Amino acid sequence: MNYQKILNTISSEVSCKNSTGKVASYIPELAKIEAEKFGMHLYCVNSGHYGFGDHQERFSIQSISKVFALTLTMSLLDDELFKRVDVEPSGDPFNSLVQLEYEQGIPRNPFINAGALVISDILISHLANPKKDFLEFIHDITDNNTIIINPKVFQSEKKYSHRNAALLNLMKSFGNIKNDIEIVLDFYIYQCAIEMSCMEIATAFMIYVNGGKKMTTNKSILSHHKVKRINAIMQTCGFYDEAGEFSFRVGLPGKSGVGGGIAAVHPGQYAVTVWSPPLNPKGNSELGMYALERLTTLTGLSIF
Ligand code: GLU
Repeated sequence: MNYQKILNTISSEVSCKNSTGKVASYIPELAKIEAEKFGMHLYCVNSGHYGFGDHQERFSIQSISKVFALTLTMSLLDDELFKRVDVEPSGDPFNSLVQLEYEQGIPRNPFINAGALVISDILISHLANPKKDFLEFIHDITDNNTIIINPKVFQSEKKYSHRNAALLNLMKSFGNIKNDIEIVLDFYIYQCAIEMSCMEIATAFMIYVNGGKKMTTNKSILSHHKVKRINAIMQTCGFYDEAGEFSFRVGLPGKSGVGGGIAAVHPGQYAVTVWSPPLNPKGNSELGMYALERLTTLTGLSIF
C-alpha cells in the first residue's frame, strides 16, 4: 500500500475544500487557534510513518486524553471499574446532564464528560501523584518526555468549567465521586490541556493497533483483551452523539476532541491522526472526518 501517495491525494482534496465548521470557543484559549491548520499522520505497523501538513505541530488533545485516561485506569483495575461507568453509547452531547439524572449518577460511557470525570476520580484514588503519573504514562507510550500541558488552555478551561462542575456535583450526590470535586475537576482539565502532534498521538495509539504493546520495545501496556474493549468503546462512543455517522462514513474505532483532533485505529494495520480545528455542529472536526473517510475509501482498509 502506497500510503504517502494516498495521503498526498487527500492533501490536495482537502486544500480545495472550505470548512463550514467553527473552531471551539467555549474554552476561550482554544478560539485563538488558526482555523486553516491541517495535519494528518499515519503510522503503519509494517512500514512506519507517513504524514503531511501540520502533522508535527502540537495542539490541544482535549477529549482524546479520555482514551489515555481509560487505558491507564484499565491497566490498574479489572471489571469493578464498570460498576461506576457503563459502556453504552449516549446519543447525547458530550456534556449533557440529562441522562445522568435518569441513570442515577452512572455515566453512559467513559468518553462523555461525566464518564471521564469518574475515570479522573478513580485515577486520583489510585495514583500517588495523579498529574505527574498521568503525564509519565503519556511519555512512556510515546517514548517522548517533552510532552506537556498548555498552561493557558488549562487556566482558560478552569474559568469556564461550570458544566463539568455540575456533572461532578450531580454524580457526587449519587455517591459516584469519591474525591473532592475541585481536585477531580482540576485533574480532568489538566489531562485535557495536554498538547501533542498528530505524529505523537498516532504513535501513542499504536498500542490499540498492536494488541496493547508498544511498537518500539514490545513492552505490554495493556492485555489484548482490554485493548479489544477499548477499541469497542471507541467505535461505539468515540464521537459524541455522532458515533454512528463516524462508523458509517469512516469505519474505524477512534476518538475526537474539541481541539479539532481525531485519532483512529485499524487494529493490526495502522493508527492515524488528523487535525483541523473547525468543528461540525456535533463537535467533531469537519475536515478531519472527511479526510478519514477518504483514507478508508482510498485504501479499502476500514474494519468493516
Ligand atoms: N475539556 C473539554 C470539556 O470538558 C473536552 C471536551 C472535548 O474535547 O470533547 O469541555
